[in-house]
Amino acid sequence: MKVGVPKETLPGEHRVALVPDVLPKLKAAGIDVLVERGAGAAASYPDAMYEEAGATLVSGDEVWSLSDCVAKVQKPTVAEVGRLRAGQALVGLLSPLIDPGLMATLAEHGVTAISLDAIPRTLSRAQTMDVLSSQANIGGYKAVLVAAEAFGRYFPLLTTAAGTAKPANVLILGIGVAGLQAIGTARRLGAVVKAYDVRPETKEQAESLGAQFVTLSTAIDATGSGGYARELTAEERAAQQAELNGVIATMDVVITTAQVPGRKPPVLVTADAVRAMKPGSVILDMAASALGGNCELSRVGETIMTGNGVRILAPENLPATVPISASQFYARNLQALLLHLVKDGELTLDLEEEITAGVLITHGGKVVQPATAKLLEPAPAAGGTAA
Ligand code: NAD
Repeated sequence: MKVGVPKETLPGEHRVALVPDVLPKLKAAGIDVLVERGAGAAASYPDAMYEEAGATLVSGDEVWSLSDCVAKVQKPTVAEVGRLRAGQALVGLLSPLIDPGLMATLAEHGVTAISLDAIPRTLSRAQTMDVLSSQANIGGYKAVLVAAEAFGRYFPLLTTAAGTAKPANVLILGIGVAGLQAIGTARRLGAVVKAYDVRPETKEQAESLGAQFVTLSTAIDATGSGGYARELTAEERAAQQAELNGVIATMDVVITTAQVPGRKPPVLVTADAVRAMKPGSVILDMAASALGGNCELSRVGETIMTGNGVRILAPENLPATVPISASQFYARNLQALLLHLVKDGELTLDLEEEITAGVLITHGGKVVQPATAKLLEPAPAAGGTAA
């Protein structure tokens, strides 16, 4: 079986789907890797390293036409979809629940689409394939570095001949994979860290990394399914907001990571809360997307300076800014998935098996993953109109 690795085309996407390190194991499983010349360059993996590891270097056209499976990081562009043919497989971070229309198009093209963001994360045997975790971990780390760079003071407590610098007060909102890494990184830089989440089990996790958990007087347990949070009710949101605003006002740096699967991210830092912050404070909204973010004022891809001197950052793709590590971990996750799906050098899809059933979005001309198929069902006809 031939797996092809094209150069990523999204601006700023410096990651590459496979790195040279993982090629020997794939080769042993009957997988030959074709790499578009220059595909790993932005992640500091030059063509020569791929060649040494046993890859065949090919042109941009050949990587699409000669591969049985195309391995990407980002979902394909319209032009890339046009290069795929029936019976070919495509694997990447396809976001099927955010872009079900693209999945319908891939199904029409007869493409077998496999999405790495649909790995069942609660299965321990799928942990090595968990791209969302590996990339969120890198995002959480980089978020702290970016926020520290935007902050005009030291993070640690420093006593020097010229005086003493107070440590920065950092608040992490959302204690999932990214939030935990952000706590650890901010602590390693010497900040005093507070953290908050609506899943009570995160209290112990945050404390074990040296953060103080913010406990609100109105206890909220919004544990949802699969380890994720559920959306809060309007009353819970109001109670949470009133108290969080008080905490946010005392912070120097706020890093937000809160997500609710399939929904718009919750607003945790309102415009009023931003207005109450000190000049020089920094907010970094990791959840920001075109749908909105955790901060009411953030705009994805932009840095805003508010009238009261607060910087609001909303970087778009933090893992891509750590491309060597992010590609290495992405490639390890993809290697584990390919070794799981390929038997005797052939893609072997057992739809009864949990991991395969989770990641397989389109196959045989149909959208087969139930959650995505449901989103594509025609909306029920509008009710009767008044005569
Ligand atoms: P995520 O990106 O969906 O959300 C980040 C955090 O935001 C979560 O901790 C969530 O509880 C929190 N959040 C949501 N709404 C909030 C609100 N209104 N206020 C404050 N916080 C809010 O989460 P994630 O990082 O992908 O992790 C989700 C879960 O999946 C975690 O429990 C993680 O441990 C679990 N996980 C399990 C496995 C496994 O079992 N193998 C692997 C990876 C992740």
